[in-house]
Amino acid sequence: MLKGLNRGYFNSILESRVKRALKKVQGDFYYDYAQSTLCVWGSDDADMDTAYEKVKKVFGIATVCRGIACEKDMEDVKQKLAENVDDLLGNAKTFKCEAKRSDKKFPLKSPEICAICGGTVLENRPDMRVDVIDPDQVITIEIRDRKAFIHGRGEKGAGGVPVGSGGRAMLMLSGGIDSPVAGHMIARRGAAIDAVYFETPPYTGEAAAMKVRTLAEKLTEYCGEIYLHSVSLTEVQETLASTCKEKLFTLLLRRFMVRCASKIAEKYNAGCLVTGESLSQVASQTMLSLAVTDAVATLPVLRPCIGLDKEEIVVRAREIDTFETSILPYEDCCTVFTPKHPDTRPDMEEILEEEAKLDVDGLVERALATDHFIRLG
Ligand code: ATP
Ligand code: MG
Repeated sequence: MLKGLNRGYFNSILESRVKRALKKVQGDFYYDYAQSTLCVWGSDDADMDTAYEKVKKVFGIATVCRGIACEKDMEDVKQKLAENVDDLLGNAKTFKCEAKRSDKKFPLKSPEICAICGGTVLENRPDMRVDVIDPDQVITIEIRDRKAFIHGRGEKGAGGVPVGSGGRAMLMLSGGIDSPVAGHMIARRGAAIDAVYFETPPYTGEAAAMKVRTLAEKLTEYCGEIYLHSVSLTEVQETLASTCKEKLFTLLLRRFMVRCASKIAEKYNAGCLVTGESLSQVASQTMLSLAVTDAVATLPVLRPCIGLDKEEIVVRAREIDTFETSILPYEDCCTVFTPKHPDTRPDMEEILEEEAKLDVDGLVERALATDHFIRLG
């Protein structure tokens, strides 16, 4: 899939990502790489079921399949094929065999290997028919350096490119449905992720913080290690509530979030901010509102959910298993002081007038002083 000079670099990142995903899985794993295929071997005691599930979550992999390892000897290949033929065929009524030889010194050529293996399948399953054009199942026989493999059709992998090959992003992670999905989408395009959660103690509680932590932990299954920052916006929120026009409250708060997130991103070498915003979803996500928050960002703000409907975001949240956590009913810091009639057509001058009443830099500085983080994954 990957071409050109970067290929070696991507492959080495991918291998390290797979290794990391399998770190806590029982058994020892060994790796070799040929013909765009990363082959992971498990020791006899390895928990291959768990390993398979973990590998399915690693970005940069197009297809995953489980192989049966054989000696590089057709007698052994035939025997293993006969033993596993029912598993390999499942409910299929037609099949074909394909052979790949990365070891070009192997004495048999691909068509000969296919003919022998096709014969073995038919001997053991006389009910089967060969269909070379549109078979229900393809059985692949691969002859590699050390071993031969037999495998059926693979499953779709997580796709994308390996995490870490596309820089680092600072995800603004609320307890909602959208931001974990946004983090997942950006990580799938190769960004390593750190996250920042803005809390408002005592208005938001420990349960809300735990929920965000659980969401971040779920993301680590895909994204690898995540540093989750928590920053208190209590002083900011109280000051806004007592000083500024209520209808602008949400936007003013979001500008503080973006200011703080930009500073943290810069400090920890992230190249962009990521949010779960989707155009027109709520008052603070109209085009004008997005412009008002973007104006204080010092880094690009990426919004991978921008063109998705809520239903589409929910489908993704379910796929990555964050949905059930996201809908737990804890207050987040935006709901605590939500205005009754938020402004959907904010006027920049009015925003600036409101902010002129505040010590913006001081508020940001004191908020950032509360920054603390935990390492997850
Ligand atoms: P989500 O479901 O992700 O919370 P939302 O639809 O509730 O999104 P908003 O609450 O307007 O929308 O938030 C928009 C985006 O701003 C979020 O997706 C998230 O990236 C960021 N954000 C909002 N609240 C917080 C918070 N407390 N901490 C960190 N980021 C936040
Ligand atoms: Mg929210």
